[in-house]
Amino acid sequence: MANIQTRRAVEGIVSYPLGESPEEIKEKYHLRTVRKMSDNENVYGCSNRVKEAIAQNLHQLSLYPDGTTSRLIKNLSAFYQLGREQFLIGNGSEEIIRLLARAYINPGDEAIMASMTFPRYETNVVIEGGVAITVPMLNGTHDLANMYDMVTEKTKMIFICNPNNPTGTIVGKEELIRFIKNIPPHILIILDEAYYEYVSSNDYLESIPLLSNHSNLVILRTFSKIYGLASLRIGYGIMHPSIIKELNKVKEVFNVNQLAQVAAEIALEDQEFVKGCAEKNTIERTLVCEQLEELGLGYFPSETNFVYVYTQQPISAKLITNGIIVRQMNLSGYADAFRITLGTREDNKFFIETLKEEIGSEKAV
Ligand SMILES: *Cc1c(COP(=O)(O)O)cnc(C)c1O
Repeated sequence: MANIQTRRAVEGIVSYPLGESPEEIKEKYHLRTVRKMSDNENVYGCSNRVKEAIAQNLHQLSLYPDGTTSRLIKNLSAFYQLGREQFLIGNGSEEIIRLLARAYINPGDEAIMASMTFPRYETNVVIEGGVAITVPMLNGTHDLANMYDMVTEKTKMIFICNPNNPTGTIVGKEELIRFIKNIPPHILIILDEAYYEYVSSNDYLESIPLLSNHSNLVILRTFSKIYGLASLRIGYGIMHPSIIKELNKVKEVFNVNQLAQVAAEIALEDQEFVKGCAEKNTIERTLVCEQLEELGLGYFPSETNFVYVYTQQPISAKLITNGIIVRQMNLSGYADAFRITLGTREDNKFFIETLKEEIGSEKAV
């Protein structure tokens, strides 16, 4: 064992649980097929035009990528009708979360977030010596009133994951606008909208227009989810240029690889693909939730490509032995909880059939 003292802030951190790979699960349970329904990836892949563009750019592998990601920023600026100076591209939007903590969290600073949300917020804040203030949820939804009450003179940033991972819920439009207006301008408000394109509710806030009046607002989006480019690692933040100036000080110089940049440019152009995926996903989400209801399983209302299920019957382990990989969760008061990413019609049918077999006819909640 290396006898070297870890930084105090890092000591208590638990590495992200990556779990067994689909290959390992296949071997372990002697399965012919495994369905990876655990990571909220796009089951429909990505736009075919992206694959062509990558093939055409393979000759650039020996060169460093464009450190200013200029072409993608130009395209995003046209797409959103916003100034180029408001965009920062990251190695996944996760990198931008890390840069925000790196640039803004002093030891002892507080970051307010929901108790069941994306775990990278807390980890990155803690790495910098900050304190995560986690606020219990109301039915799987952010409790904005309570989050507001937790603001102190030590508060540096507030994370709102909307829609929220892992619960799939959104916060109401009016409530979120009021919240943003009430937060003093020296506190960063980070709206993580990784699942923005999947939302079908009318009560969802279009946050971009708020940027012009709120210089403390950061909006995060990604090419990993509906655009289907998770393996390339590319996401972006939209924010006031003065924040980008600070984040650039702590960013890797060549943080986004060139194939990812090219892929994202082309993916952005193919909005037909995005629209098609969102439509199919909404249909599957409705079907799966109807079946969960019929089976008497608890779930949170989802605006994403995944559903958080909870029950008094131990069931997620059985799903995994049947080749359905889900993300297991803990929900106080329930024997079992898990997040399942929606699949194709065939995947979802298999999931429901497996649930029926494992549950029998008993009510599960
Ligand atoms: C997937 C996800 C991200 C990170 O995506 P990247 O692949 O790093 O772009 C960020 N936030 C939430 C809530 C996510 O679910």
